[in-house]
Amino acid sequence: MRPLIAEIRLDHLRHNYQAARAAHGDKTLAVLKANAYGHGAVRCAQALADIADGFAVACLEEALELRAAGIALPILLLEGVFDADELKAVDEQDLWMAVTSEQQLAMVEASAPAKPFHVWLMLDSGMHREGFLPQEYHAAWRRLEASGKAGKITKMTHFARADEPDVPMTFSQLEMFDAAVRGLPAGDESVANSAGILCHPRAQRNWGRVGIALYGVTPLPAGFEQDKVLRPVMRFSSKVFGVRELGIGEPIGYGDNFVTHRPTRVGLVACGYADGYPRRASSGSPVRIDGAPSQLIGRVSMDMLTVDLTDLPDAGVGSEVELWGDAVSVNEVAAHAGTIGYEPLCNVKRARFVYR
Ligand SMILES: *Cc1c(COP(=O)(O)O)cnc(C)c1O
Repeated sequence: MRPLIAEIRLDHLRHNYQAARAAHGDKTLAVLKANAYGHGAVRCAQALADIADGFAVACLEEALELRAAGIALPILLLEGVFDADELKAVDEQDLWMAVTSEQQLAMVEASAPAKPFHVWLMLDSGMHREGFLPQEYHAAWRRLEASGKAGKITKMTHFARADEPDVPMTFSQLEMFDAAVRGLPAGDESVANSAGILCHPRAQRNWGRVGIALYGVTPLPAGFEQDKVLRPVMRFSSKVFGVRELGIGEPIGYGDNFVTHRPTRVGLVACGYADGYPRRASSGSPVRIDGAPSQLIGRVSMDMLTVDLTDLPDAGVGSEVELWGDAVSVNEVAAHAGTIGYEPLCNVKRARFVYR
C-alpha cells in the first residue's frame, strides 16, 4: 500500500475548539467548509458534536453532507444560497444562511418557507468582497424584517486583515460595524474569524467563527503568544521508497530546477502535487526524515518528490517522512510555495486518512 497518510488527531481538534471558544468567551461556530480544510468534514463534525455551538460551511452541498451523516447542530451557510431553489432545502434541513447581496435578499423576500429563516446579514465593513455597504445595511435589515421571512437576524461582518495584528484596518472595520448596526434592534453579532478571536479582544461578540485555528494552524505571523495553545490536527507523512547517489552537477527531476552542488544522496518520497503537496514548493522546503530535519530538492512531481538524505546516513528506503504536522509547519511549507497554510491543507487527497 502506498505509504502516504493524513493522520487526523481528533483530540487536538477538540482541544483547539475549546481553546478558541475560551479565547472568544462566547458561542463559536466551528468552520468546516472545504471538507473541514481538507481534514474530513463529517468526521470532524462528529468529533465536535458534543462541544460545538454550531458549524459553518460555504454552501448547501456541504451542509447536506453533514445533515445526511446525522449532524443535528446548527449549520450556517457562509455564502448563503446561489439560487432560489436552494431555499427549500435550507428550510427543510433547518439551516442558517448568510444574506450578503441584493440578489439573495430578493430571493428570501420571494420565498415561502414553512418557518422563518435564521439569517446572518452580512455587512461590508471594508473587505469589499460581499455584504451590504454601511449606508445600505439598515434598509436591508428593514426589508428582511418586513418580509416576515426572517425570524432571527444576526449581524455579521468579516475581516480582511485580522491576521496582521499590527495593521489598523481591523479596528476601522469594527468601528464601521458598530456604527452601521447602531439603532437596529438588539440581537446577536458575529465578526471574528480565527485571527480576530486570537488577537482582537474587541472583536469578541456573540458568535466567533473559528476556521484555521481549529485545525491547529496559526493565522498569525511569528512572534505572537496567542497561538501557542494550538495543536496541529493533521500530520501528513509518507515514506522514502527509493534512494540514489549522485555526483556534483547532476540535475534531479523535471526541468532545471535543481542541480547537485555536492555528492548527494537523494531520497524518493511517495507524495506529489496530485496528493496536495504544492508543486510550487521550492528546493529547501522543510521535511523531517525519521525525526531529523532535511529538505526538498528538485521539483515536486505528480506522485513523487525528492529529498536530501546526504547528511542522514541512517535514512534510506522505509524512512518516515513528515511533510507537515508536528515538526514541520504547514505554514512554512506554504511559504516556500508562495501561499498560506490553508491552501495545501484544503488540497490534501489520495492519502489514507487515519483518524485518532
Ligand atoms: C472561512 C471563513 C471563516 C473562518 O476563517 P479562518 O481564518 O479560517 O478562521 C470565518 N468567517 C467567514 C465568513 C469565512 O468565510
